[in-house]
Amino acid sequence: MPPVPLTQVHFSEPDYRPKDTGQNRFSRTRFLVWFLFFFYFSGVHQAIIYSSGIAGFFGLTQALVMSLLWLVPVMLFPARGKLIAGIAGVVLWASSLFSMGYLALYHQDFSQSVIFIIFESNWAESSEFLHSYFAWWMLPALAIYTLIPWLIWRRLQPVGGTPVTRLLLTFTICLAVCWPMLDRVIINKGSLADGFDEQANSMEPVAPWQLVMGYVKYRQALSNAENRLLASDKPPLEGLVDSNADTPSTLVLVIGESTNSRRMGIYKYYRDTTPRLKAMSDELLVFDQVYASRPYTVESLQQALSFANQLQPKLYLEKPTLVDVMKQAGYRTYWITNQQTQTQRNTLLTTFSKQADEQIYLNNNRSQNSAQYDEVVFKPFDDILSRSESKKFILVHLIGTHRAYRYRYPDTFKIFDDNEDLPPWLRKKRYRRDYNEYDNAVLYNDFVVASLIEQVEKSGQNGYLVYFSDHGEEVYDYPHHLFAGREEAAPTPAMYSVPFLVWRSESWKRNNRIDVSYDMTHRMYSLSDFFHTWMDLAGIRFSGFDAGKSIISRQYTPGPVLIGNPAKPETLVDVRQKFFPAAMTPATPATTMQGPGPGPGPEALQPPTPAYGPKYGAVTGTVPVHVQKILHP
Ligand SMILES: [Zn+2]
Repeated sequence: MPPVPLTQVHFSEPDYRPKDTGQNRFSRTRFLVWFLFFFYFSGVHQAIIYSSGIAGFFGLTQALVMSLLWLVPVMLFPARGKLIAGIAGVVLWASSLFSMGYLALYHQDFSQSVIFIIFESNWAESSEFLHSYFAWWMLPALAIYTLIPWLIWRRLQPVGGTPVTRLLLTFTICLAVCWPMLDRVIINKGSLADGFDEQANSMEPVAPWQLVMGYVKYRQALSNAENRLLASDKPPLEGLVDSNADTPSTLVLVIGESTNSRRMGIYKYYRDTTPRLKAMSDELLVFDQVYASRPYTVESLQQALSFANQLQPKLYLEKPTLVDVMKQAGYRTYWITNQQTQTQRNTLLTTFSKQADEQIYLNNNRSQNSAQYDEVVFKPFDDILSRSESKKFILVHLIGTHRAYRYRYPDTFKIFDDNEDLPPWLRKKRYRRDYNEYDNAVLYNDFVVASLIEQVEKSGQNGYLVYFSDHGEEVYDYPHHLFAGREEAAPTPAMYSVPFLVWRSESWKRNNRIDVSYDMTHRMYSLSDFFHTWMDLAGIRFSGFDAGKSIISRQYTPGPVLIGNPAKPETLVDVRQKFFPAAMTPATPATTMQGPGPGPGPEALQPPTPAYGPKYGAVTGTVPVHVQKILHP
C-alpha cells in the first residue's frame, strides 16, 4: 500500500463540548449525601434524645431544617464545596461534642441554662470536671463518632445543576431556615427582637447554634445584671430600721461550696467528717432541713442573697440585695473569696461581689491548684476583723468541697483512706477513691469553718456568723444510680441538702434574743428565703420583711421548698413531695409539719432518724429509714 501523503492525513479535532453524561444535571442522591453530612452533627444527638424519650420531636425537626443552612455556601460556590464542608464540619463536630458529652454524662438534653453554667464556670473547673468524668469507653465512642462524618465527607461530590437551579434551591433553603423569624415579624407583625428570639429558639437545638445563641443570650443577661446590680441610683429599701444601729457589730456570712450536709458528722453521717464543728455544737444552732433551691452556685446564691425566689426569680435585679441592705444599714461591707475570679472574665458572681465596698480576691490563678486551700481566707479575715469600723459585714466565699475533691485539702487531711467502712455498692476503685476524697474535703472544710468561728470569737466582737453551702453534691450516695455531681433534671437529696449553722457571740445572744424555748432546728427551709433569716438575725426591719420566711422566727410559717428551674415553671416541685413522699401523709400535711404550738405529734417534729452506715444499705444522711426504702427500692 503506497504511503498516504501527509497532506491527506486527517487529524480529528478533539471534542471539547461537554458530553451529556448527567454530570451537569442536578443529582438528588448527591444532594442528599451533602445534607446527611451536615445533619449528622445535630441529627445523631437529637435522634438519641427523641428515641430515648428525653425530649419531644421539636429538636429533631429543627435539626432537619437548620442543617439545610450549610448547603447554601455549597450551592453558591460549588467548586469550593468540599473545602467549605470540611471547615464547617470541623466546627460542627467540635460544638456537637458539648451536647454529645453532656448527653453521655447526664442523659439529658443540653439546654440554655447548662450553657449559662458553662460560661459561669472557668476552664480550670471544666477540665477538673472532665477529668473526673472521664471513662475509657469515651475514646472509642469518640473515634466512631468522628469516623462516620469523615467517611461521608470523602464521598461528597458536586451536586451539579444549572446556576438557576442552585439559586432557586438556595432561596428555598433560606426561606425554610429563616421561617421562624419571618413568620413572627411579617405574618404575625411582631417586633424584630421577637423575631430574633423566635429564630434563636428554633436554632437552639442545633450545633453550633446552641453555643452561639447561648453565648449571645448569656452576654445580654450578664450586662443587664451588671447594669442593674451595680446601678448607683438603686432606690433604697423603705422603712429600714436597725435595732442594733447604735451598737458596734460584726456580722459574718460564710458561704461554702458543694457541701452535702448528709456527708457531715454533725448531721449524723456515719463518718466523723466534722469533729471541730461537733466539738462546738453547743455554741451553734444546727438546722438540719435546709435545702438549696438550685444545684448551681450562681443560680442558688442569686436567690439566697436577695428577695428572689423560685416563684420570682428576677427580683434580685429589681430590689436591693443583701449587700445593698447591709450598706444601707450603715455596715462597711467586705467580700473575701477563694472562688476563682480571673480578673479578665466577669461572671455574675463577680458582679455580686462588686456590690461590696471592698473585695479580696484570693484565687486569681488560671488553675484552681493545690496551693489554694481555703485557709488562705484566714489572714485577710483577721485583718478585717481588727479594723476599726464599728459596723462590719464580712462575706467569705469558700471553694469548699468543689470537685475535683482531692485539690481541696492538704495531705494532712487525708484521713478517710481505707475502704473498710465504705458502702458496698462502691465496687469500682474510682468510686471508692472519689468517695474518700469527698469526705476528706468535708473534713478540711470543717477545719476552715470552725477556724473562722474561732477567729470571730477570739476577736471578742459583738456579732454572729452564719455558715451554709450554696448547694449539695452527690458523690455515689445512692446504690441504684452511681453518680457524682449535680443535675437539676434528676434531683436527689444529696444535691440539695445543705449545712446551715448559726454561731452568736455571748453579747449578741444577750441583746438579740432568739426564742429557743422550742426546737426550731428541724424546720423545713429553702435557702432562697435566707434573706429574711439574715435580716431577722441582724435585727433589721423594713417594709416587705417577712417573718414567716425567717427560720429563727416564732412567726416562721413552713412555705414551699421548691427546687427545679424557674424558667420552666412546670419543673418546680416541693422537696417534701420529691424526696420524702412518705412524710406527706394527711396526718402531717406540709404546712403544719414544723413549728411551735399545736401541730403534728412529736414523731413528725422529730428530726428524721438518721440511719447511716453501710450496713443499712444506704448512706443518705438524715433521711428516715422508711423514706430510704422509697428512695432506694
Ligand atoms: Zn456551687
